[in-house]
Amino acid sequence: MIRRTVLCIVCILLALCPLAACEKSPAEVDAPAVTAAPTAIPSPTPAATPAPTLAPSPAPTFTPEPTAEPTPTPVPVTDPIITLTGGERLTVDAAFTFEDPGAAAQDYLGTDLTDRITVEGTVVPYLVGEYALTYAVTDDDGRQTQVQRTVTVVPVKLPEVIDPPPKTIYLTFDDGPCYNTEILLDILKQYDVKATFFVVGNRAQADLIRRAYEEGHSIGVHSYTHVFEEIYASEEAFFADFWATEEVIHAQTGQYTTIFRFPGGGNNTASWFNRGIMTRLTKIMEDMGYRYFDWNANVGDAAGNYDWSSFDYYCSIRARIQPDDRPTVVLQHDLNGASVRALEAFIPWALENGYSFLPLDMTSPVMHTPVNN
Ligand code: ZN
Repeated sequence: MIRRTVLCIVCILLALCPLAACEKSPAEVDAPAVTAAPTAIPSPTPAATPAPTLAPSPAPTFTPEPTAEPTPTPVPVTDPIITLTGGERLTVDAAFTFEDPGAAAQDYLGTDLTDRITVEGTVVPYLVGEYALTYAVTDDDGRQTQVQRTVTVVPVKLPEVIDPPPKTIYLTFDDGPCYNTEILLDILKQYDVKATFFVVGNRAQADLIRRAYEEGHSIGVHSYTHVFEEIYASEEAFFADFWATEEVIHAQTGQYTTIFRFPGGGNNTASWFNRGIMTRLTKIMEDMGYRYFDWNANVGDAAGNYDWSSFDYYCSIRARIQPDDRPTVVLQHDLNGASVRALEAFIPWALENGYSFLPLDMTSPVMHTPVNN
């Protein structure tokens, strides 16, 4: 009976152990929580299911963003811009030439349009006054911009005149150089007298300009061709002739000069075929910073008067010397040999009688004859 009861208990215990692994340790068997885990595994699936539903929901909020990005990029469309180098107002000294400092241009995208700039209007560089220049540019879409610049041409300030000492004589020689110029330079050198040469540019003996300059004499422009009909035909013709002579002087001496003498003088009547040109030229040239010199002692040795002897010219010079308190500006021509040789007697006489000789320069006294045209 007892044996039967024991079996029955065992059977019950076995029945209560579904794993029937009674060989395991009681501790392992005592882990019923682990067996609950499999039932807990499906729980993540319900937790993950809300996630996909959340993921698409923020997405629609991002989609409007790409449409918001282009808003800062639009560049305002404007007309092209012109920038004037040197500004809208320019003041320049009267001169032979004017150089436009130029301008730069670009469209609203920053594309360089400088090459397309056109300029209208002119500056007459030697005429004192105000000039307007208009700069224009057009972009690819036909938008145009115009900018104006005012150029003011002002007179060049001339150096102050310095009064020479009493009994000063300025010997001046026109129309050279020529073979007589060499004789003349030798005479001047002998007495250490400095004179002034208003030269003609197309002479074959141009190298004598260099010798005269190196020996301390003043060099001034007279003309290149000395043909009145050409020189006084227009302002442009005059300047072309003038500038050609300046270039010869520059080639011989290494510098340009600022003194000159009009062919025929400031009071010439040979220019009457062009009324008023001497009035215009005398002003223009001074505005440009040049100083022209006429004379107050015309020896009378110009072309067509070659019959006089050296003694005649000697007497002529002496007769025309100004009172002591006024400088004497003598007009001679080195083309006239007799006139040149008259100096062999005149210079020693003048030095012995207290006269001194000076070359003309920008500070020399103004010596102008009344303009006749
Ligand atoms: Zn002359």
